[in-house]
Amino acid sequence: IWGQACVELEKSVGPNNFNHWIKPLRLTALEDGVARFASPTRFVSDWVNRHFADDIMGQLNRVGPSSIERLRFEVVPSAPANGRARPGAARPERDDAAHATPSAATVRPKVRPDLCAPLDPRYTFGNFVVGKPNELAHAAARRVAEGGPVGFNPLFLYGGVGLGKTHLMHAIAHDYQSRHPSAQVLYLSAEQFMYRFVQALRESSIMDFKSMFRNVNMLMVDDVQFIAGKDSTQEEFFHTFNALVDQGKQIVISADRAPAEIKGLEERIKSRLSCGLIVDLHPTTYELRLGILQSKTEAFRRKDPEVRIGDGVLEFLAHRISTNVRVLEGALQRLFAHASLLRREITLEVAQECLADILRTNDRKVSIDDIQRKVAEHYNIRLADMIGPKRSRNVARPRQIAMYLSKQMTSRSLPDIGRRFGGRDHTTIMHGVRKIEELSVEDNGLAEDIAMLKRLLQA
Ligand code: ADP
Ligand code: MG
Repeated sequence: IWGQACVELEKSVGPNNFNHWIKPLRLTALEDGVARFASPTRFVSDWVNRHFADDIMGQLNRVGPSSIERLRFEVVPSAPANGRARPGAARPERDDAAHATPSAATVRPKVRPDLCAPLDPRYTFGNFVVGKPNELAHAAARRVAEGGPVGFNPLFLYGGVGLGKTHLMHAIAHDYQSRHPSAQVLYLSAEQFMYRFVQALRESSIMDFKSMFRNVNMLMVDDVQFIAGKDSTQEEFFHTFNALVDQGKQIVISADRAPAEIKGLEERIKSRLSCGLIVDLHPTTYELRLGILQSKTEAFRRKDPEVRIGDGVLEFLAHRISTNVRVLEGALQRLFAHASLLRREITLEVAQECLADILRTNDRKVSIDDIQRKVAEHYNIRLADMIGPKRSRNVARPRQIAMYLSKQMTSRSLPDIGRRFGGRDHTTIMHGVRKIEELSVEDNGLAEDIAMLKRLLQA
């Protein structure tokens, strides 16, 4: 039941919220209108209760037999996966209303369990597929995980949603921790940083807050764009940051865009963030998506070797789901569940049917017209040149970008797209798409242009 509810919850609260807040929960009982959960920290259960209780009850009632009216949480810290902070500072954490027996694995970690976000054990370097779009970020992450005088601090990772920033950060934490078992690694989202900070202000425990952050060996703050515009949180972040860098402690930051482009972030913070190494995760290429699908397929096959995936299915997915690796993974997972339940080979037709909803939402309602217009405007060429015969570089390149976006953002076939570009042949379109994929790996400016055009088109 919980598994089923989770599939829908991930959609309704969004994957980020889902991964941070709902995934760490374990459903322990459903009885008398109450759903009981084991939660890794009090912090997680409070947050979930405040923000997602209705969603969770709604989904449980949709998929389950009984009608749930209340949620109860018990804190059962999962010690090994967590990062660490100040030893000995753990407080007893127990929800009054909860009476489920804590699992045998309940060893109080020597950390404040509510401080750090749980690390996902699956997010390791071993599970990260490296390709051109992410090789630099991956290499930098590896280097930082080794520890020692790496020569860049902070490491700033940025890129669009679902391209692997969080995965790499967790991988750094796991790897670094295994090399330096006594080191204290603290991973949290910028949102959690703010939440802790505000709470410390409210409880007048700001000195504790400060010393806690200043005593870690490695601090990782995910999605730092979140603190843009939040002045006092930024201020505190700035001081924490400086204190750690001065002590030679490693900092890893992620954001959805480069420091200079984060609006509402103070200049001095931008410039501090830019002191180390800034690397971006480029949008995935077809090859990388296929590589990721193959690697995940192998992992699934190890669990259930009976499952058969037909020819061309992975290629089809890699083509059609191009925005976000998380969505790609979800699609594959669903196919495997399907195959394993029905003991049936997943053919292309089965895949299309089974994933109809995902494939539809990936066809955001952007038309080729919109794309041509936007791209022409952006590069300051005439709309007529999009479909016209001119072959000079200043016209041909934007045209190829428009072809690429048409392939990525609409469900149109190559011949279809060709017709809309003045009756060009589908091989010409294919060539254009490939060209832009290749170029955008090498050319940061181009990759950023494309990312921006996409954002504009989706807005
Ligand atoms: P972000 O933090 O950039 O939004 P995540 O790190 O959460 O993205 O990645 C989304 C999902 O895609 C995760 O499940 C992650 O494991 C997976 N993923 C992303 N990139 C890769 C990759 N190169 N290899 C394997 N899995 C990946
Ligand atoms: Mg993330």
